[in-house]
Amino acid sequence: MKNISEILENVKTVGIGGHIRPDGDCIGSCMALYLYIREYFPDIEADVYLEQPKPVFDYIDRMDEVKTEAEEEEKEYDLFITCDVSALDRLAVAGKYFDTAKKTACIDHHVSNKGFADVNHVRGDVGSACEVLYGLLDADKIDRSIAVPIYTGMAHDTGVFQYSSTTPETMRIAGELMKTGFDFSRIIDESFYQKTYLQNQVMGRVLAESILLQDGKCVVGYLKRREMDFYGVEGKDLEGIVSQLRLTAGVEVAIFIYEMETQLFKVSLRSNGKVDVSRIAVFFGGGGHVRAAGCDMQGSMYDVINNLTAEIEKQLAEE
Ligand code: AMP
Ligand code: MN
Ligand code: MN
Repeated sequence: MKNISEILENVKTVGIGGHIRPDGDCIGSCMALYLYIREYFPDIEADVYLEQPKPVFDYIDRMDEVKTEAEEEEKEYDLFITCDVSALDRLAVAGKYFDTAKKTACIDHHVSNKGFADVNHVRGDVGSACEVLYGLLDADKIDRSIAVPIYTGMAHDTGVFQYSSTTPETMRIAGELMKTGFDFSRIIDESFYQKTYLQNQVMGRVLAESILLQDGKCVVGYLKRREMDFYGVEGKDLEGIVSQLRLTAGVEVAIFIYEMETQLFKVSLRSNGKVDVSRIAVFFGGGGHVRAAGCDMQGSMYDVINNLTAEIEKQLAEE
């Protein structure tokens, strides 16, 4: 696919969907595509499905039109497009619409993505789904309203243009978007860096109790259900913790786990380059990128940590 208009030909209804626990890149790419279709393909009936986007993203236009649940009525879209979704079981809310759609497309940047749609536009070498999407849109049609969510997603998935996935092309595109004129410092502060007092407290606790393993090459942070209930925090309050752990001097891999339900852990992995954490996440049934990946794992906390570190050790030994 060269341009999004190719798959929109003869399409009257389109659904757009992102992944579970949507992050800035997921929300940004889905919303940018939605806004673009609403603006330049007014005859197409478009819907966007996102699982409970955080209110910090409310500065994006038309966020109030997002559908957070599938409707009762049966609906068959001519086309269903996923953005930033690495595998079909990661698609949130709109799974049934994907299944019944006449045609499906997937716009993504996960190396672990095997291509689950009819049309797969997956670029594992690109830092964000938003950057992949940008390449499918007509640059001169990207106004401020559409630029804001694209910029948001690019900034989020590159750690504010800092991760190794940031390229000269990433910066060029960010510059083009910036020309449309929006308050980028505020967007980044409020949607990316800012934490509530409680979120900061919890991060402090996780860092204080983190453990160094494998001669300081691996750091592990954890939060048990009991502690989460004590603070009254959920998974979405814990973003940023694993990134901070990764910034420990000497560390190759950072692991952060939290207990979603008793003995069921959400695992986040970050690498400083030597270890391919996508391979580890895929091994345990998850996915992601070389330097940022995740999976869900069952068992006691110690089993989960031991199983993960054993795989990390294998890769470190391969060097
Ligand atoms: P996270 O640690 O949740 O921020 O996720 C890091 C990256 O790994 C993201 O790009 C996710 O899309 C991906 N990822 C996280 N968890 C899973 C999972 N259970 N299955 C597939 N991909 C995942
Ligand atoms: Mn994502
Ligand atoms: Mn992404």
